Amino acid sequence: MNPTYDFTGSVALITGAASGMGLAAAKAWAEAGASLALVDLDPAALESIGQELADHGHRALTVACDVSDESQMADAVHRTITDLGRLDFAFNNAGIQIPYAGLADEEFSDVQRLTGVNQFGVWAAMKHELRHMRGQGSGSIVNTSSIGGVMGGPGRAAYHATKHAVIGLTRSAAKEFAPYGIRVNAILPGTIETPMVTDMVRTGALDHDASVAAIPLGRLGRAEEIAAAALWLSSPGASFVTGASLLVDGGQLA
Ligand code: NAD
Repeated sequence: MNPTYDFTGSVALITGAASGMGLAAAKAWAEAGASLALVDLDPAALESIGQELADHGHRALTVACDVSDESQMADAVHRTITDLGRLDFAFNNAGIQIPYAGLADEEFSDVQRLTGVNQFGVWAAMKHELRHMRGQGSGSIVNTSSIGGVMGGPGRAAYHATKHAVIGLTRSAAKEFAPYGIRVNAILPGTIETPMVTDMVRTGALDHDASVAAIPLGRLGRAEEIAAAALWLSSPGASFVTGASLLVDGGQLA
């Protein structure tokens, strides 16, 4: 399905690499020949993915890290450079949901945790990635926002706010770092079949059939389709694309 790229000799750092879109992207970058830094909160899942990739002949460093902690994120980037030698691509993708709640009822602790991971985590990752890429004079960063980054969502105000913030960070960084040869873009997934969505359907936070009905292509997206967009945005094929918000939503927001 995917076009093939040759990223041999390059290094890609992926956050949220142990599941869903991050995992699909890790496999796609590995197949394209890149060495990987797999960053995630879940050490056990990371270990098994790292082992699986190594068994297929790929080079994968695993870094257990909470992206909402700047010092851990700084260390993850530092270890990538130390162990793998460089950093060409970053896919800042780790994100969480909190329980569905109206704005008047959202819990402060939930919103704080959500903002820490979805917004601050992308900020922290970009800060340390860009410091390195600036010195290198090249690089591509792709951040995972959401269709929630460009629309309101009753019951999901705080989540949507974090995804709007990712677009703001992306656009500003794109302008600031273009002179250094660095491109920064955002992907806005629609509803994609990943463990996050399976969990939302299980808990009643999302109605599967209503979600499908809202999508002109008539199905949910696949994690591999987000990975394909991330690789394209990082490839020479997208050499004039920066600061973009790429909808990958089956036409939902058309
Ligand atoms: P997922 O739950 O399958 O995977 C998310 C991964 O992030 C997990 O491996 C988890 O351990 C990791 N993670 C969570 N908190 C972390 C932290 N603090 N530090 C490091 N890693 C952490 O979810 P997914 O559906 O693949 O989502 C990926 C991204 O896409 C998220 O940012 C999400 O908000 C966004 N998104 C998802 C959908 C969808 O329909 N699935 C739609 C729009 C946007």
